[in-house]
Amino acid sequence: MANYYQKEIETASREEIIAIQNEKLVKQVKHVYDNVAYYRNLMDEKGVKPEDIKSIDDIHKLPFLTKNDLRDAYPYGLLGTDLDNCVRIQSTSGTTGRRVVAFYTQADIDLWEECCARAIVAVGGDKSDVCQVCYGYGLFTGGPGLNGGSHKVGCLTLPMSSGNTERQIQFMMDLNATIICCTPSYAAYIGETLAEKGYKPEDNKLKAGIFGAEPWTEEMRRSIEKSLGIKAYDIYGLTEISGPGVSFECEEQTGMHINEDHFLAEIINPDTGEVLPDGTVGELVFTCLDKEAFPLLRYRTRDLCVLNRKKCSCGRTHVKMSKPLGRSDDMLIIRGVNVFPSQIETVLLNEGYDPNYQIEVDRKNNTDTLDVYVELSNEMFSDKVADIQAKEAALAAAMRTMLGIGPKMHLVAPKTITRSEGKAVRVIDRRKLHD
Ligand code: ADP
Ligand code: ZN
Repeated sequence: MANYYQKEIETASREEIIAIQNEKLVKQVKHVYDNVAYYRNLMDEKGVKPEDIKSIDDIHKLPFLTKNDLRDAYPYGLLGTDLDNCVRIQSTSGTTGRRVVAFYTQADIDLWEECCARAIVAVGGDKSDVCQVCYGYGLFTGGPGLNGGSHKVGCLTLPMSSGNTERQIQFMMDLNATIICCTPSYAAYIGETLAEKGYKPEDNKLKAGIFGAEPWTEEMRRSIEKSLGIKAYDIYGLTEISGPGVSFECEEQTGMHINEDHFLAEIINPDTGEVLPDGTVGELVFTCLDKEAFPLLRYRTRDLCVLNRKKCSCGRTHVKMSKPLGRSDDMLIIRGVNVFPSQIETVLLNEGYDPNYQIEVDRKNNTDTLDVYVELSNEMFSDKVADIQAKEAALAAAMRTMLGIGPKMHLVAPKTITRSEGKAVRVIDRRKLHD
């Protein structure tokens, strides 16, 4: 398949990439120091001057930025250019607190859309494709990002936005969509609805899906691939750094190539800030090498993952990141045990359940409680209490093996757990509400 949107840079040698990064970083640090008072103050506090940054080897000297800095500096404090030069604002989904806004010049938009175009070409997209974008449009970056990328590739773009699943399916079938872009949870919902309408996976013309904006497991990938009859690819990004397309999966489906010519990635120990070698799990940190309006340096994503520089069979040379294991603040600590929602999803799908579940954490009598509500499919549903109890016990045992603690399992009737059309809210942590 191996096609590239920008072959030269996507397959550049490591030496070339490093040379580009060195040059851009030196320039960007000076630009930020001169134009962003907020960051200049952080650098001054740390005693670092732009002249101290001579190459990417010096990056560890720079201070970090966190989401709290973005909230402190809201709305204009991290602007790197006059507002007159900006043409767009986007905002985070506010998954973990107050939303932050990001600004874009036209060059920033072009760069972001090119990254999305790289992702579409990497899954086999070209101008003959019909690309159905059912990420939300608006302040959320998913819709606008993939829409722009799809235009750049020259696909016939269906700007559906999320929701109205009946209409999604009608357009998908009537207009022969070949590529679909949405959150994995929405893809699962669309697959379920197609089946309910009597469509088989081979009835649609889809060949690939580009799914991201929320964590999803390999088990979920296989389940979506089966229900839609496609190859499902991961895409990662965050508003602060531009949006989807910061990294994307190629045909190998073993991690996402980070667009290293624009975004310099580091992995750090989230507790100490120390930079960790490739191959170690830690928090992903990005430095924007080109962005004009919102040029964040050493931004801590809170996403935990691993970087891998092994040669990729697709011919791309950019470093690959693993699927984020979850955000550092997604990790639940239950009676002292670290639990990632993705581990729960893995067990459920392995045990033959559909990805319709809700996790509830609470604290009762000073003890953490973990309850998992899982929907039964019509085929699994039973009126016999004993049947249900036996299934719950089997699931609880499988969970205990995976997590090290046994959650209380609740199997609930078909169609009782709300489906997600955008980012799924899998966890309700009531402990936070009491604190
Ligand atoms: P918010 O932080 O409010 O959710 P965004 O809409 O910008 O704001 O979402 C960015 C975050 O979404 C990332 O930091 C990451 O945690 C999550 N995310 C995005 N893409 C993926 C992906 N492919 N896999 C897992 N998580 C993802
Ligand atoms: Zn590859």
